[in-house]
Amino acid sequence: MGLDFFIAYAMGRSSAARAERAAASLPSVSGVSIDTVEDLSERINRLVLMSAAMWSIMEENGATQEDLMARMEEIDAADGVLDGRMTPKAHRCAKCDSMIAPGLRACQFCGEPLPQDDAAKPFDSL
Ligand SMILES: [Zn+2]
Repeated sequence: MGLDFFIAYAMGRSSAARAERAAASLPSVSGVSIDTVEDLSERINRLVLMSAAMWSIMEENGATQEDLMARMEEIDAADGVLDGRMTPKAHRCAKCDSMIAPGLRACQFCGEPLPQDDAAKPFDSL
């Protein structure tokens, strides 16, 4: 039950409805390739699996839904905006001092990989 609640919160009713409408009209949407949709679907499936694994560990350690909601709000607000999403942080390249775009594992200018601490977080691979 806890995970269903978490996923419903993460997706939101309006987002789920939008996703359903978008899926229904997909053949008429230009500029969206099947590869992109399949990639997004794979990433969502991986996110749901990671969330299920994390929630099972949290429940085993006594976490409640209230704990989960409080932490989600805390993380949501960490980027300064309570908007139901996490905005990835940009990193500065240790080699060329350029700002590395959020989500990349290496500098887009010189190829220098991010330090292992920054590159190894599970959600960065989604
Ligand atoms: Zn660089």
